Amino acid sequence: MAGKKVLIVYAHQDPGSFNAALKKAAVEELSKQGCLVTVSDLYAMDFEPRTMKKDFMGPLSDPEHFNYALEAYQAYQQKALSPDIMAEQEKLLEADLVIFQFPLYWYSLPAILKGWMDRVFCQGFAFNFPKYFESGLLKGKRAVLSITTGGPANTYSKTGSRGDIRCYLWPIQHGTLHFCGFQILAPQISFAPDRVSQEEREGMVAAWVRRLAAIWEEAPIDCTAAWYFGQ
Ligand SMILES: Cc1cc2nc3c(=O)[nH]c(=O)nc-3n(C[C@H](O)[C@H](O)[C@H](O)COP(=O)(O)OP(=O)(O)OC[C@H]3O[C@@H](n4cnc5c(N)ncnc54)[C@H](O)[C@@H]3O)c2cc1C
Repeated sequence: MAGKKVLIVYAHQDPGSFNAALKKAAVEELSKQGCLVTVSDLYAMDFEPRTMKKDFMGPLSDPEHFNYALEAYQAYQQKALSPDIMAEQEKLLEADLVIFQFPLYWYSLPAILKGWMDRVFCQGFAFNFPKYFESGLLKGKRAVLSITTGGPANTYSKTGSRGDIRCYLWPIQHGTLHFCGFQILAPQISFAPDRVSQEEREGMVAAWVRRLAAIWEEAPIDCTAAWYFGQ
């Protein structure tokens, strides 16, 4: 798959973390395949996660009543979004595959990654009306979540204390990424790396590398409610 472009959006503070190990393994494996890999290391970039008026370079279209979504839509069309947002949008436009590498925070994304999605996936760039879901503006691209958890796998089952992890992925995979047109590959979930042996952790990194070796042949998941909430 030489020449394919991959963007890794990575959200962990510590270069010695397990998330960092998974990110590094992905960079190495995909580069070995001849892919062009770009990493957005959000904490290292000190990425601004807040949606604010200063995201817009020109005058606001309605200074009396601030509506972030509307201002973002207009600023995108006028190329007046702040440079940090435009830089991430350019990386996304280039990418065939986007990997989101992050630890699960409160059954969801770390705030810095949620803010990246809030600011970067603006109307006009990632979706429009009626261009969303299958006709979303990022269609043709693939996305995969590579998540680590604190809780072990058995607690994330339908009968486990935390419930089926697929339910928590609905807002991220379906409500956000699929809404913007991405095809979704099955999530890579590395359960409880801080509770298992070094050997098991190394096994999880190796499993991710093995999967990446064949990731271009994978079929996307059936991104319907049944995948998330079915029996
Ligand atoms: C605000 C907050 C909310 C949270 N909410 C949830 C939640 O809702 N549900 C949940 O399940 N968890 C939750 N957690 C826990 C969190 O998801 C886990 O702590 C995190 O996923 C663990 O990943 P890590 O990369 O930080 O692990 P680390 O602690 O960095 O790493 C685990 C171990 O892996 C070792 N390691 C590093 N590199 C390698 C390597 N190459 N090979 C082998 N071992 C290596 C490290 O040395 C360490 O011993 C939350 C945590 C926070 C801070």
